[in-house]
Amino acid sequence: MRKNIVAGNWKMNTTLQEGVALAKEVNEALKGATPKCDVIICVPFTHLASINAEIDQNKLGLGAENCADHKSGAYTGEVSASMVASTGATYVILGHSERRQYYGETSETLREKLALAFENNLTPIFCIGEVLEERENETHFEVVKKQIEEALFNLSAEEFGKVILAYEPVWAIGTGKTATDDQAQEMHAFIRSVIAEKYGKEVADNTSILYGGSCKPSNAAALFAKPDVDGGLIGGASLDCASFMGIVNAF
Ligand code: PEP
Repeated sequence: MRKNIVAGNWKMNTTLQEGVALAKEVNEALKGATPKCDVIICVPFTHLASINAEIDQNKLGLGAENCADHKSGAYTGEVSASMVASTGATYVILGHSERRQYYGETSETLREKLALAFENNLTPIFCIGEVLEERENETHFEVVKKQIEEALFNLSAEEFGKVILAYEPVWAIGTGKTATDDQAQEMHAFIRSVIAEKYGKEVADNTSILYGGSCKPSNAAALFAKPDVDGGLIGGASLDCASFMGIVNAF
């Protein structure tokens, strides 16, 4: 059975001290609580080990926001999947639109990153989504299908079964403009049909597909009520414990 998941993406926010304090606050809020979803925070590399030491990963999963497309070696400034795993983190966001847009990530580099994530037992939270122009010229289904096919369809069914997908329409990220719950459902159902065509209905039904893009406590319940929306990848609202927990409790 697929899981409901709410995952935070802190992006390039918080100092180490602020980040540890926020993680402790979320961890505390989850103590004794029984949310109807798995809860994960994906944080800057510099924070991973310190946060791992402070949280109960049975209640709050920990992930990185990226990893390198090489195993190790002369890649100054890069952080490998094995380094991420060695901090105690077990998730990694891959293919976020900001990485694709500002750092030129392609399906080819993402295939390398996925392979390294699997080698190091990291669960990928893999992002896909169209830009505004693509939605306006109605190529959004085609674009999303291509992103999935190019980066993920070389995976075995077993590997694919470990991937968490996040549909994030780029026009909705950090803009305050959320996709309507019907727009999200329409795309999520389409994504599930694309997966079913390749891997079969069982794999498709078991894949968690999160929605991301200006998700907040006020719109989360309507989005999560849709049958193919299995939770959210949360940017801005994950930087405040009360907002993040408001989204977690929307399930
Ligand atoms: C994101 O970048 O993953 C995201 C969903 O951001 P926001 O919630 O701020 O739109």
